[in-house]
Amino acid sequence: MRDGVAIRTDGVMRHYAMGQAMVRAVDGVSIEVKNGEFVALLGSSGSGKSTLLNLMAGLDRPTGGAIFAHDRNLAEMNSEELARHRSHTIGIVFQAFNLLPRMTLEENVELPLRLAEVDRGERASRVHEALERVRLGGRLAHRPTELSGGEQQRGALARALVNRPTILLADEPTGNLDSATGDEIMKLLREINESLGMTIVMVTHERPRAEAFADRLLMMKDGKLDGVAAGNGGRGGAGGNDGAAALRP
Ligand code: ADP
Ligand code: MG
Repeated sequence: MRDGVAIRTDGVMRHYAMGQAMVRAVDGVSIEVKNGEFVALLGSSGSGKSTLLNLMAGLDRPTGGAIFAHDRNLAEMNSEELARHRSHTIGIVFQAFNLLPRMTLEENVELPLRLAEVDRGERASRVHEALERVRLGGRLAHRPTELSGGEQQRGALARALVNRPTILLADEPTGNLDSATGDEIMKLLREINESLGMTIVMVTHERPRAEAFADRLLMMKDGKLDGVAAGNGGRGGAGGNDGAAALRP
């Protein structure tokens, strides 16, 4: 899985007709994310980052262009295959952690496995493994309100990982957290990227954080790609532009 391309977009568009006007939320974006790469999507509010991420997730369909995940064209998938893509290939976390309040942490993390019809015995061990990975093994019976913001986001991350996706998408995962807790989440994402070889595409508007932790930064503006820069890939320091990292796929 480490060689090759995880996600490729080819002139992808998502236009919304709003009365007479057309909102070009994503407007002809062509990018490639390699297997095992950690990419940050940067841009100001309204630049189309979330729309692009949702298209990659298969949560939304493009109005033009194409998206490939591991060389498979999402447009050619029927609804069953697309559901499978969302459930098996993609893990996704959002700014608002979206854990279900009436369920314990363990039940929240188990939910994707139930939906994927994984056997009960297998479910328990996978839930524990995912929660250990985010260092929440001691919080199984807690409900979301009994967890800190950082713990809730780590729980959401465990839920995203439990189906063992190959691609993790994160939309401003640190947006609701204070700076120290946000850094913990970033370190955890980097660790998951490195230990599991998981491909990560993370939306953020915090450039220093993107520079510190991502391998590559893709800048968006008005729905278009507006520049590429190298990140530090978690090797310490705040950003920077070493040429070797820029050339690395
Ligand atoms: P970002 O995540 O970078 O802040 P978004 O992808 O959420 O930006 O939005 C990009 C643009 O598309 C914005 O101008 C937004 O208002 C518009 N947009 C997003 N979703 C819709 C929708 N469902 N209908 C109409 N316009 C939308
Ligand atoms: Mg957004």
